[in-house]
Amino acid sequence: MSEDFPRLDMLIIGAGPAGLYAAYYAGFRGMSVGVMDSLPELGGQVSALYPEKVIYDVAGIPAIRGQDLVDALVTQAESARPRYILGHRAETLRIADDFTSVVTHRGLTVEALTVLITGGIGTFSPRQLPDGDEFAQRGLMYFVPHLDELAGLDVLIVGGGDSAFDWAASLEPIARSLTLIHRRTDFRAHESTVDKVLASSVRVLTPYEVFKVHGHERIEAVDVFDNRDHDRQVRLEVQAVVAALGFTADLGPFTRWGLEQRKRHILVDPAMRTNLRRVFAAGDIVDYDGKVKLISVGFGEAATAVNNAAVVIDPSAHIFPGHSTERL
Ligand SMILES: Cc1cc2nc3c(=O)[nH]c(=O)nc-3n(C[C@H](O)[C@H](O)[C@H](O)COP(=O)(O)OP(=O)(O)OC[C@H]3O[C@@H](n4cnc5c(N)ncnc54)[C@H](O)[C@@H]3O)c2cc1C
Repeated sequence: MSEDFPRLDMLIIGAGPAGLYAAYYAGFRGMSVGVMDSLPELGGQVSALYPEKVIYDVAGIPAIRGQDLVDALVTQAESARPRYILGHRAETLRIADDFTSVVTHRGLTVEALTVLITGGIGTFSPRQLPDGDEFAQRGLMYFVPHLDELAGLDVLIVGGGDSAFDWAASLEPIARSLTLIHRRTDFRAHESTVDKVLASSVRVLTPYEVFKVHGHERIEAVDVFDNRDHDRQVRLEVQAVVAALGFTADLGPFTRWGLEQRKRHILVDPAMRTNLRRVFAAGDIVDYDGKVKLISVGFGEAATAVNNAAVVIDPSAHIFPGHSTERL
């Protein structure tokens, strides 16, 4: 038993849609489960890259906002009482005879009878602003999972892609004032969202970049400059900065664990087993002939992986879980 953590039946690495659904399923199978993610937020690519976009191809749900899907997955997983281990990147894996242990970059050891890797495209780290890192959680944010947090504030959004414009469009009615800056004059976001933002009360400054973030307890102002003429600076009195500069993705640790791979994906068999004993994988990170990278496919793979892991944990268990409708 690790000193850090009680031994779990299953450790899920990756809190995207596949990992969150797997957490629900692990609970359905009576397992104790932990969900680890290097990001501070649940939801994987959906929360990080497109929380405001509407998803149309999740079975049984004609249309749902990305963050609403994540919130629903988290609610569904509550019945499993998962232990969330956020802000921890799984760094090393050791497989003993009858359990596995994963050590994170912050030195936490988590032991589990089985591991399910739902690491998507790898750990993604937000691209940093040139200044203001010390204000993380004190006004500086890289995600806006809950727009209400910014209600009534003067907000600066930095970036010219889909996330920046989606957040600008959604925050415009609830922020006190909104400024968007981008270092180029052209944008990479969907044209209709750009048009909507440009026609709104959002102040858009291009080609502007962040120079200095000021504040004490929290952010109070940000100096931005015109990158064609560095002397042209503007001080923006804002209490929050949303840095939507994109993410870098890195499969990193998984490539060193001895997992069989194909084109930087983990190879699995039809039971979602990897070549390593007690280690399963599902979602965007896996490959097999015919693999399709979609949320709905990841859900199915997660269920397959957990049900097959149930038999590894308890050889007398059945792979088929029974129908959820038959549960009290
Ligand atoms: C703009 C955009 C729009 C999309 N629209 C759709 C759509 O309409 N329909 C659809 O089906 N799909 C869509 N997708 C694809 C969909 O988002 C992915 O298929 C889905 O998110 C994959 O889920 P996942 O759980 O496998 O991985 P991810 O969502 O990528 O989550 C993986 C998680 O694992 C974490 N992680 C990775 N490595 C480690 C580690 N070593 N330690 C700890 N944590 C780790 C990451 O931080 C991440 O949070 C879209 C994608 C994008 C970018």
